[in-house]
Amino acid sequence: MYCRYCGAQIEDTARFCSACGHKTAAETVKEPINLDPAYDEAKDRLASQILTWGILSLAFSCTFIFSLIGFIFSFVAKSKVKMYVRQFGQVEYRSRVGRDLSTAGFIVGLILTILASMYLFVIIAYVWVFLFGL
Ligand SMILES: [Zn+2]
Repeated sequence: MYCRYCGAQIEDTARFCSACGHKTAAETVKEPINLDPAYDEAKDRLASQILTWGILSLAFSCTFIFSLIGFIFSFVAKSKVKMYVRQFGQVEYRSRVGRDLSTAGFIVGLILTILASMYLFVIIAYVWVFLFGL
């Protein structure tokens, strides 16, 4: 197990932490406590990236003309979410908001891309009829 005060690995049976001297009984956690500031920094950076891609995904999805781009961006956000979960466990706060935005971007992007394709098809059909007749 790991000491909840200093993060040192200690014997499961130890009653006091050999590193800092704190009591261990019923006060320990199974996972090591990460005291490394670089860990929080990396977590923060990735959360910001997820949020950014999530916003971009939904923003582009809503434009109709560029909804395909928003749809593609949602996959970028999703891959970042996967990376986040693998490295830091559950998504939380900004990374969760980013994930939800990218999910919305995915749905809106998909629907509008289909509509835009149909719209484009209708325009092509009109031009075709206009130029060549039926
Ligand atoms: Zn300790």
